[in-house]
Amino acid sequence: QTAHRQPGRYQFYSLEVDAWNSQRIWVLQHIEQAIEQDELRLLYQPQVNLISGRIIGAEALIRWQHPDVGMVHPAQFLAVAEETDWIVKIGEWVLKTACASAVRWKEAGHPGMKLSINLSARQFRKLDLPKAIAQATAQTGFDPHLLVLDITEATLHENRGVDGKTMQQLQQLGVQLALDDFGTGYSSLYHLRQLPLDCVKIDRTFVADLGEDEDALSIAKAIVAIAQSLQTRAIAEGVETDAQLSLLRQIGCYAAQGNRFRPPLSASDLQQLLQTNPRL
Ligand code: C2E
Ligand code: MG
Ligand code: MG
Repeated sequence: QTAHRQPGRYQFYSLEVDAWNSQRIWVLQHIEQAIEQDELRLLYQPQVNLISGRIIGAEALIRWQHPDVGMVHPAQFLAVAEETDWIVKIGEWVLKTACASAVRWKEAGHPGMKLSINLSARQFRKLDLPKAIAQATAQTGFDPHLLVLDITEATLHENRGVDGKTMQQLQQLGVQLALDDFGTGYSSLYHLRQLPLDCVKIDRTFVADLGEDEDALSIAKAIVAIAQSLQTRAIAEGVETDAQLSLLRQIGCYAAQGNRFRPPLSASDLQQLLQTNPRL
């Protein structure tokens, strides 16, 4: 095999695989503890209207604060957790915890602010979403009309078969969808028209190249136009620079999130921000 004829390469490859495997095993062994010992955290990244500067929503992003290892990011554990049923528990925990935080944004003077929650394909399939959402919103008093589910185009397609009924129930609850990482999959506009869309999110790989790469600007423009034709709005993610921000404004993008405004914040930091800086 070629790999054996290139010993350096082979070793590099096998080290990577080993590292991934041991990380995977570590996650499988510790994920139960993460949930039972209350080691999961949610951070919230504000979403900002590009005309008024007002914070119009926030996206909940999960972290695992392990006592020895420190902060573990979702890319390092969610895919592994999805191999187990713990992913269902995690989804329920995220929903309940995020709704409990978001209900307090009203007190901070932001009554119409939306809460976005990410859902993986597997969560979409395995969680009884309408029930989990009805429970989380009833228990916390959060208005389901302000709840947005971030799903990727891929998730939408993987779940095509079960879409209909769940989607109808979600719509009845007043929940909306955001198409995450838009532009990286292939959705037909016809199909998208049927969905209760709050927004489409311009993937951060396009935002990163804005200003440097003409194609990225054309793609961003096209996504804004598609959003308009679907009677919804475009939100850019991963905005880091003033240059990206001003281009997004120029092309009529509705809102943005990213480190240019704020990185994901703890619930209490966001609450404070809402009280002191309603506009960013
Ligand atoms: P996503 O939904 O596309 O989230 C955006 C990611 O961009 C987040 O990474 C966020 O921290 C990061 N980000 C925000 N601003 C900037 C910026 O200015 N520059 C750069 N380079 N990155 C920025 P994070 O928090 O690591 O989450 C990664 C992905 O994990 C998310 O992608 C989402 O798909 C998934 N995820 C996060 N939390 C949850 C959750 O509670 N449940 C599920 N199912 N998935 C989650
Ligand atoms: Mg998201
Ligand atoms: Mg995204």
